[in-house]
Amino acid sequence: MSSNLESSDSAPLQTTAVNPGAFRAATPVGPVSILKGSLSRWRRQGGRSALLFFRCQTANLFASLRSTPRYYCNVCESDIPRFVHISNALWITRNSACPKCDSRKRHRGLFLLYQRLFPGFHEGFKLLHFAPEPILVPLIKQSQCEYRTTDYFLQDVDFPGEDVQSLSFSSQSFDCVLSNHVIEHVADDFSAFRELARILIPGGAAIITIPGDWKRKETITFPDLSNNGHYRDYGLDVVSLLEKVFASVEVVDLFDEAGRNAERLGLDSRHDLAFVCRV
Ligand SMILES: [Zn+2]
Repeated sequence: MSSNLESSDSAPLQTTAVNPGAFRAATPVGPVSILKGSLSRWRRQGGRSALLFFRCQTANLFASLRSTPRYYCNVCESDIPRFVHISNALWITRNSACPKCDSRKRHRGLFLLYQRLFPGFHEGFKLLHFAPEPILVPLIKQSQCEYRTTDYFLQDVDFPGEDVQSLSFSSQSFDCVLSNHVIEHVADDFSAFRELARILIPGGAAIITIPGDWKRKETITFPDLSNNGHYRDYGLDVVSLLEKVFASVEVVDLFDEAGRNAERLGLDSRHDLAFVCRV
């Protein structure tokens, strides 16, 4: 995502169009594109990443032959025959991206969570969204709240250049903060969590998602940033870290949030957790 602070000096100007969930339609895959992409991954990230890409895209090739709608994207309200599997240097995420709007699993689950919590996002409610995903922006703006966006690299936000580890906002400025897949990109996650808590008014909430293996207790810290610019792959011990900063931490499995519609939305149990952190 957009907050890899170590590469800031050389990073070109970026916009929210680089984020997942930027209304990008899926590009067709074929044998040639799979081979070219695998070679590119091999050069940039090594053999494991190339193998993951090859397996992932081959599965996408076969899935593209389906025509019967069996899935549903609640973000773009589309019945679709498949979600697109995606891969990075670490893993394959099956049934992840909507082929029409590029929503990911977490966005479809978060949309449900936000809808449940949105009664609090009334007119005058001050909401700050880090690294905003374009597909979520219009959905949130429907709520009439005082909605602001921010990021370190992205330029098309209300407050560009904000380092989540050391924010310029006054304490107790916002009722709610949204941060999806940002904190894994910053060196000092404890400072980031502390800053998110600082800018919330009493009773306010930060809704945070971060990638992790939620069947594992321990967070793995990477020695360098070669793994997609991530400093770490979280485990459940992050809850203890959050509890040092926030008064309460509610762990929401977005699979459970979707109830019986979870599989139709492409969601998996314990794949995407959202942490609703209150001060
Ligand atoms: Zn969609």
